[in-house]
Amino acid sequence: MIVTRFAPSPTGRLHLGHAFSAVLGHWVARGQGGQFRLRIEDLDQTRCRPEFVDGIYEDLRWLGLDWDGDVLIQSQRTAEYEAALDRLKSLRLVFACFCTRADLAQALTAPHGDAMASYPGTCRYLPNDPERRASTPHCWRLDSQKALDLAGLPAWVESDARVLSAMPGDIGDVILARKDAPAAYHLACVVDDAASGVTMVVRGEDLRPSTPIQRLLQNLLGIDQPAYLHHALIGHADGRRLAKRDQAPTLAAMREDGVDGLALADDLRAGELPLGFAFLDA
Ligand code: GLU
Repeated sequence: MIVTRFAPSPTGRLHLGHAFSAVLGHWVARGQGGQFRLRIEDLDQTRCRPEFVDGIYEDLRWLGLDWDGDVLIQSQRTAEYEAALDRLKSLRLVFACFCTRADLAQALTAPHGDAMASYPGTCRYLPNDPERRASTPHCWRLDSQKALDLAGLPAWVESDARVLSAMPGDIGDVILARKDAPAAYHLACVVDDAASGVTMVVRGEDLRPSTPIQRLLQNLLGIDQPAYLHHALIGHADGRRLAKRDQAPTLAAMREDGVDGLALADDLRAGELPLGFAFLDA
């Protein structure tokens, strides 16, 4: 059975791009007698707000979308993320990183530092130091080199049956658990997709760069791999992306303007966008 999911972050109100993702995920699953799951990605407690969680439920109902099973709330799943991180620790595939934002900014602007991925490797080879960890805030990063040596470069299946392979530069020492949260996006995402039995991840093309990392984590954790459908992004007709900071029109505002949510969802299923919007080229 096909299982898809919609996994918004409650850091603002949903816009048309979210609506397309949700409508598509719902349609792909339900059209084949499958399930559509909902997950609230609220690990970043500094940016997430309860009223935006309520807004997600309200917007989905307006679009006529219902979901199967309980809503999975990431902030309630600390134990599951810790277990996954412990597994990676026991495989010696993670390291504690004590760098502050300022340290990293400085390292990355230093001469010759710019060719490095987003992390310059500062803490990768530090000795294991439980005392320092007990007294100093730190995050946990993937040791990407060791991980790739163990599991090899991952590949994944796109919904059109193409098999795509990761390139070595696609995978860096990403943060898996933050100083102030039990997991960061990639780790929480793969643990939760597996917990919900997701067989196809439907999400925007902007998240495609996350897929090599997430596939590698699935391999390391022994998690079944889903297929991926990365859909085109919706932008303004003049080519600008829909961004919160750009005052993208929210679904709430469209509703207040009298737009019919059910009709909008029908149009999105037919690939038709309201006036003023367009699919962006990849
Ligand atoms: N929470 C992410 C977002 O709102 C989506 C993550 C995903 O679909 O994998 O952009």
